[in-house]
Amino acid sequence: MNLFEETKFIMNKYKIQAKKSLGQNFLVDEEIVNGIVNEAQISKNDLVIEIGPGLGTLTSRLLERAGKVIAVELDKDVLNILNDRFKLYNNFELINQDILKVDLNNLIDDNLKNEITSCKIVANLPYYITTPIITKLLEEKLNLKSITVMVQKEVAKRLTSVPGKDKEVSSISYYIYYYSNPKIVLDVPRNCFIPSPDVDSSVISLELLKEPRVKITDEKFLFDVIKASFSQKRKTLLNSLVNNHICSSKEDLEKILSESLNMNPKVRPEELSLQDFSDLCNLLKK
Ligand code: SAM
Repeated sequence: MNLFEETKFIMNKYKIQAKKSLGQNFLVDEEIVNGIVNEAQISKNDLVIEIGPGLGTLTSRLLERAGKVIAVELDKDVLNILNDRFKLYNNFELINQDILKVDLNNLIDDNLKNEITSCKIVANLPYYITTPIITKLLEEKLNLKSITVMVQKEVAKRLTSVPGKDKEVSSISYYIYYYSNPKIVLDVPRNCFIPSPDVDSSVISLELLKEPRVKITDEKFLFDVIKASFSQKRKTLLNSLVNNHICSSKEDLEKILSESLNMNPKVRPEELSLQDFSDLCNLLKK
């Protein structure tokens, strides 16, 4: 039985229909499944947290390679499938919860012991909450080695853009680049899933840096400034920061941009690198 047939068989046996509201698109391409596990470089020293195991396709490959797999799934209807499939594995744990509500710091701390020395996130993400999940994984400063996840192709481009260099940046690109080395590792056509989504997908890999990429005294302020800068489409950096009350005086900000940072006061936020934003924040705080 190939993966497509196996998935159909499981769905029939357990009378499962994919739930659109939970972003359920089940992966049915063997090469892509193996590709994800290979890109994540899973070994017996790894704890893998899988977000949204669904019917367990990726989970079964992860279990063969990892020291332990903790799968976090919101949908109650697939729990018995996962428990039936993996009951013989003593390195499998299933948590029935919304990933956005799981205390991941505690979960990781409790499970990094003995020969299990690092934690990696691997998932075919539910697309409706891609940004909140990635934000949570980075914001909570988890003890993670890498994040390897499938997302929509267009979103993948934005998430892996290098600020100041690539065109398609948004505020989350800076966030990701601050914490990690991001790259697209696989492109995945829509026909690799049941049901087939309306968009193509890509797998991205975020390799977490030991220290954030730039040194900054007030991290929160840096991200407030970046968010404010991108809050209004097609506005200049100057206008967005004044409109969002990051800086009360347009003249002062104009002076900082042109005199201290040697920038055109009409500069748009997407032209700034992460270091540029960091320098700007340090000057605004003075
Ligand atoms: N891993 C499976 C695969 O590749 O075939 C399923 C991937 S499917 C794109 C996304 C999975 O995330 C579904 O199983 C869905 O039920 C689950 N999910 C959706 N929202 C979730 C949430 N908030 N927390 C945890 N899992 C969630």
